[in-house]
Amino acid sequence: MLISVPAETAPGETRVALVPRSVTDLTGAGAEISIQTGAGADAGFADPAYVEVGAAIADDRARLLGAADVVVVVRRPQTADIKKLKEGAILIGLLDPGADAEPVKTLVERRVTAFRMEAMPRISRAQDMDVLSSMATLAGYHAGVMAAYRLPRIFPLLMTAAGTLTPARVLVLGAGVAGLQAIATCRRLGAVVEAYDVRPAVREQVESLGARFVEVGIESEEQEDKGGYAKELTEDAQKREHEVLAEHVHDSDVVITTAFVPGKPAPILVTKAMVDSMRHGSVVVDLAASAGGNCEYTRPDEDVEQHGVTILGPTNLPAAIPGQASQLYSHNVTRFMLQFIKDGAVSLNFDDPVIAQTCMTHDGKAVGDQMTALLAGTRT
Ligand code: NAD
Repeated sequence: MLISVPAETAPGETRVALVPRSVTDLTGAGAEISIQTGAGADAGFADPAYVEVGAAIADDRARLLGAADVVVVVRRPQTADIKKLKEGAILIGLLDPGADAEPVKTLVERRVTAFRMEAMPRISRAQDMDVLSSMATLAGYHAGVMAAYRLPRIFPLLMTAAGTLTPARVLVLGAGVAGLQAIATCRRLGAVVEAYDVRPAVREQVESLGARFVEVGIESEEQEDKGGYAKELTEDAQKREHEVLAEHVHDSDVVITTAFVPGKPAPILVTKAMVDSMRHGSVVVDLAASAGGNCEYTRPDEDVEQHGVTILGPTNLPAAIPGQASQLYSHNVTRFMLQFIKDGAVSLNFDDPVIAQTCMTHDGKAVGDQMTALLAGTRT
């Protein structure tokens, strides 16, 4: 049973899917591991570190892909790479195709069993396989640090013989996994932090981190779906949210936005007019840039300057912390693989939600409503 790890090919991707520590866990389950030459280099894991724990290093990418029973990646490989996979092989990674049916079609044609780690159910049992939480934690931290670095003033209160410097004011919008980590980071750096989320359940968590919860008046349990995610706001509720947030954005030196609604474009929380009202030198870090952004000025992976305000829209912050991001990702995917790899053999139990909900193609077919509709050309 061979597990292969190709080097990542997405632009700017620095993570590697397996770190040496995970190799030992997988060889303990009877697997052999093959890593493409230099695959871990950008994340700080050189080839000899893999050899030391019993992995093989492979130069030939095509052979590495073609020989594997299981291929583990961070980001979805190009279609040309998918075509090289052995018929019936397993592919695991952040594979979500969005609206692009082409990769799903190729996976089906190659009869690949593909698992997208983004779809891992948010249940207690799957916490150690929850890649979204691992990566959002790092992104939230880094957003706080990035804001502090780009803001032309310091975060903490400082009393010096030359005078007192008041603390920076930070507003965090969306207090899920990334938002809570951004709050904690900005608090540790000494900023005064306010936060808002439509889910009232997070109020206590926000306050326990030493931040003030902003009241908009639309927060309600009904804003949360069965999976714990936020629903899209009605037009009236969004108007109300904008009215209240405008004042808080105006008073903030930093705004960090992290709001997502599954299956929809990211909600606009910070309008152009709100940014235009901010003080010169203020910073907006928009972690929802990959889904269209929470700020109207956001452009993915670009620094935008408007009226003296800097708007940053990073789409892959975990790649800025590649060693630890790889360590967490590798742990998540290894725990996932150990659900179905035992004594050197694969046994998939589709009654297990961890397997069923992450699977996107199997046995020459698309799996689940979303992938089936995408393949049929009618995206849900
Ligand atoms: P997410 O990335 O989907 O969204 C980030 C935040 O944005 C959410 O808190 C959401 O409520 C908020 N948001 C959306 N629209 C908004 C708007 N218009 N205004 C203000 N805020 C808005 O969320 P996430 O961080 O992935 O977490 C989603 C849920 O999953 C949460 O309930 C979280 O507690 C839960 N979760 C559970 C587990 C587990 O049990 N294993 C693990 C992680 C997360």
